[in-house]
Amino acid sequence: MPAPHAKPPARRLAIRGDLLDFTAAPEWGAVESNAVRFRPDHWLLVEAGRIVGAQPAALSEAQGPDASWERHDHHGRLVMPGFIDTHVHCPQIDVIASFGAELLDWLNTYTFPAEAHYAEPALAHSGAARFCDALLAHGTTSAVVFPTVHKASAQALFEAAQQRGMRLIAGKVLMDRHCPDNLRDDVDQAERDCEDLIARWHGRGRLAYAVTVRFAATSTPEQLAMAGRLCARHPGVYMQTHVAENRAEVRWIGELFPQARSYLDVYASAGLLNERAVLAHGIWLDDADRTVLRESGAQIAHCPSSNLFLGSGLFDWRAAEAAGAAVSLASDVGGGTSLSMLRTAADAYKIQAMAGQRLTAWKALHAATLGAALALRLEGEIGSFEPGCMADVCVWDWAVGSVAQRRLDVARALHERVFAWMTLGDERNLVACFVGGGLLFEQRSG
Ligand SMILES: [Zn+2]
Repeated sequence: MPAPHAKPPARRLAIRGDLLDFTAAPEWGAVESNAVRFRPDHWLLVEAGRIVGAQPAALSEAQGPDASWERHDHHGRLVMPGFIDTHVHCPQIDVIASFGAELLDWLNTYTFPAEAHYAEPALAHSGAARFCDALLAHGTTSAVVFPTVHKASAQALFEAAQQRGMRLIAGKVLMDRHCPDNLRDDVDQAERDCEDLIARWHGRGRLAYAVTVRFAATSTPEQLAMAGRLCARHPGVYMQTHVAENRAEVRWIGELFPQARSYLDVYASAGLLNERAVLAHGIWLDDADRTVLRESGAQIAHCPSSNLFLGSGLFDWRAAEAAGAAVSLASDVGGGTSLSMLRTAADAYKIQAMAGQRLTAWKALHAATLGAALALRLEGEIGSFEPGCMADVCVWDWAVGSVAQRRLDVARALHERVFAWMTLGDERNLVACFVGGGLLFEQRSG
């Protein structure tokens, strides 16, 4: 008689390619780094959805993964952990690449009308499915996501992620002032909705709840206090919001909260900063703010393509690094112009170049993998090929097109190759995307 809880046989998967991940944080500016783990032409071994190890493909056939392993031979391709996008808006796929506005205009002209559609559950569901599939098609397997103010939009997003087995952190947006009537909640109903969603989704499979304050201007002090109470009542939940993105916004926050020392201080005073807080942008911070970030363990989700597109400003990554504040990389679509974390990383390089800094491929790619995982306290699950981590794995072509191919052909050192890939590549380089060992995206040939 079988044991009552006998597990099904473990599915064994072996993925061959040039394995690249990180074992520590690379130093600023260093193109040679012990934090980089590059294992050219190896098999990455997966059992029951988790990484179990790796071995050189050069071993003899007898010693390599045998017929009990489902083999995916991507010899000559780059294999990396799935990217982690720490700040992105599900409904804003509809307004990506909208012309001619800075943040506050852009919200009113494009974003709020698009988000109003998500009151309709059927649209919220189709939008969430489209969004999750788009993330996977860009090599992003984990994300921290804003849906809309509507409870149904958070519900739809969690369901879509659950169906795909993705690591997703999200929560209903809190917004009870300075927004259109059809996007406004109130403190009591919002608290009930959050409690319901936390009970239903937080910690379920690979999902986690984030108390989601849009930004300080769109929540009353009463609502911010309620959000702080939610964080205190549920210590494992995340918190996500925006901070210090644009100068007009920062001035406005100063008028709305005259007692606060700074924009960040509004959130600190409401009890919203902790080691699970993710704050998008953080361009217009000072040293005291950066110290608060380090001491609280909160991270900045740096959104370079959005910051350039909306003309918001140039993030001082080096200062955040020097202060010991965690920095991850994020697309911020639809303020950002691509879900591709490669294009995001390439834009991050250009922003640092404007400040006379040199962002290495290691620093940028670490921030989109292990660095983000560490900042989210999820390094045991995502962000690297450490045994025990979930097999969220992406296979990439090193080059697409004649220009990238030529650049690759003449590149010598590893950083040179990876930097060219990061700078010239995008989602067209993605060949396959596995989530928990399941193949969820494959580029169609031709
Ligand atoms: Zn945003």
